[in-house]
Amino acid sequence: MIGHFPHPYPEELFYSVCARYSEQMQYPTKIAVCDALFGVPNLNVIADFPTRLKPFSRNLLPGHTLKDMRQIVRYHSQFPYYAPFLPVRRRVPILSIMHVGPKSGSRLLGSRIPRLNRLKFCPECVNADRIDYGECFWRRVHQIPGIKICPTHKIPLYESWSQDLRNYRNEFISAEQAVGGHCFEEIQIDIRHYEIHLSIACSADWLLKNPGLNINPDVIQRKYHELQDKRGLYKYAGNTKKQKFEKDFIEMFPPELLASIGSDLGDDMHGNWLKRIIRTKGSFTDPIRHLLLIHCFGHTAESFFLSCQTDPSWSPIRRTKVQQSKFSLYKMAT
Ligand SMILES: [Zn+2]
Repeated sequence: MIGHFPHPYPEELFYSVCARYSEQMQYPTKIAVCDALFGVPNLNVIADFPTRLKPFSRNLLPGHTLKDMRQIVRYHSQFPYYAPFLPVRRRVPILSIMHVGPKSGSRLLGSRIPRLNRLKFCPECVNADRIDYGECFWRRVHQIPGIKICPTHKIPLYESWSQDLRNYRNEFISAEQAVGGHCFEEIQIDIRHYEIHLSIACSADWLLKNPGLNINPDVIQRKYHELQDKRGLYKYAGNTKKQKFEKDFIEMFPPELLASIGSDLGDDMHGNWLKRIIRTKGSFTDPIRHLLLIHCFGHTAESFFLSCQTDPSWSPIRRTKVQQSKFSLYKMAT
């Protein structure tokens, strides 16, 4: 049983709470921390999709906020950012790994966006959190791959970069430790792309803060088709329509911007991701690419998903008999 475990701050990553715990308890090694929290000596510490939440929450004292592991999934992991774009058949194994698995749930995503290598922070958030809570912490929206601006303060994030911090997967490193070490640098942003980066960051933040968005990805794709036609593309036919849309997209998002967030269009043998996202049913594309497309249609995540839900074609994920047991797992966790 874990006698004392810090309560999480709003929007704090679960990894960050574990890092504060490790620092408070002054464990000599990461092995000792993992053994105490998760019941295994060696665990690849993953910031976006934490694992072994079931044994962890079972070990907490009654009454702790995180005793209910749904609190971790919903409010202290990045799962709500990915969930609306994941087919149900892929959500369930990821949640299962988050509950009990030793591996990383993020491996199951198959995303082509480079995963998080360095933890990020906003200096204004650091100042505000120190005033409000007495210490800073890792915020989950800052750690999303491709996010470069703080949606609250609208300034570029900083990356922690020292040799030790690069190894954060093998250590628990608190934000105070990283920021106090002065080993960081500001992320450079092309000023011409500032508004787009900010819009994407705000939409990512909205997704994280709306974890109950239980939407069928097929509805999202139908909405894309509808919005494509509303852009006046109805006068084009077949391949000409697709080419016109791609041209419009590239005009809005130049190649150097797309490359800076791992989303360039020209390097895929099976057709670029923009074609797949519009055409292919049941596939997963990284949320940041969906957010680019949503932005291209003139929407924010909030206005887009609200429009999906008021659309007559909207329906929540169906509970088929085959999916019943798996769906129960999904509902239990989220
Ligand atoms: Zn900030």
